[in-house]
Amino acid sequence: SAPILQVKNLKKYYPITSPFGKTKDFVKAVEQVTFDLTEKETIGLVGESGCGKSTTGRTILRLTEPTEGAAIYKGRDLFTLKPKEMKKVRKEIQMVFQDPHSSLNPKKRIGEIIEESMKIHRIGNKAERIEKAMYLLRRTGIREDQYYKFPHEFSGGQRQRIGIARALAVNPSVFILDEPVSALDVSIQSQVINLLEELQDEFKLAYLFISHDLSVVRHISDQIGVMYLGHLVEKASTDELFENPLHPYTKALLSSIPIPDTRVRRERIILKGDVPSPINPPSGCVFHTRCPFVIEKCKKEKPIYKESTNGHLVACHLY
Ligand code: SF4
Ligand code: MG
Repeated sequence: SAPILQVKNLKKYYPITSPFGKTKDFVKAVEQVTFDLTEKETIGLVGESGCGKSTTGRTILRLTEPTEGAAIYKGRDLFTLKPKEMKKVRKEIQMVFQDPHSSLNPKKRIGEIIEESMKIHRIGNKAERIEKAMYLLRRTGIREDQYYKFPHEFSGGQRQRIGIARALAVNPSVFILDEPVSALDVSIQSQVINLLEELQDEFKLAYLFISHDLSVVRHISDQIGVMYLGHLVEKASTDELFENPLHPYTKALLSSIPIPDTRVRRERIILKGDVPSPINPPSGCVFHTRCPFVIEKCKKEKPIYKESTNGHLVACHLY
């Protein structure tokens, strides 16, 4: 089916001014990101902290303004919308954050928090909203009799469920989930991931799932995009990416997680050095300073995307 959200050549530079005010530099947070998201599908964005994955999510919703590119949602480019139209879109594309504690008003009862988000978007009358809030709490695994409790009375995992219930309340089509389980214990992580998978089917949601944790991303994603220093360096279906990783950075990431499937033997690839500064990224391929397979060309020419089988995209001179 047709994509519900298409991100095209997204670029986000943050201007920074030097202490002496003269030279203006830019943090090149996102340089080249392109992907499609289809209804009821999950695309995972994975990479180390600072690779631009969170900025990508925030820029789509214009929580921070994009520098270049397009985000086509249901046929309209979000980057050209007026604030009033954008407000309507923010109802349909909901953001779920790592720490729901900071996004749940501590002075409000959890039921009210959910009911009010519907009220803001003029959904139903009060009785209908309360009934729906009760249903959503129950559906996300919170007992209805906890409706009148405050956020601090819940555990981290429960608060994330409440945050998800609130996001669901306004009938969204897309969730942008930014490290939604990273603050939770591993056992709780899988419960929340399973809940998200159930809700995706029930509410026909598309997920952009942002995480540094490749095992979590693997579990939930249909497609995975790998980011490094603002670039989407590889994108493929989850199975394809794990069976046949092409980009040297992806290979290094995969080699660092335990593989339950012993048919696939992987040698551990340890990357030398640190991620370079996004203010002054390396020339050519941004990964060339750390790549075990670097060739001369990599230092001068930026690799362009090449497509191999089944929509598997990679930006690397080796292919
Ligand atoms: Fe490594 Fe060159 Fe490929 Fe970049 S383009 S990932 S430096 S081989
Ligand atoms: Mg799924």
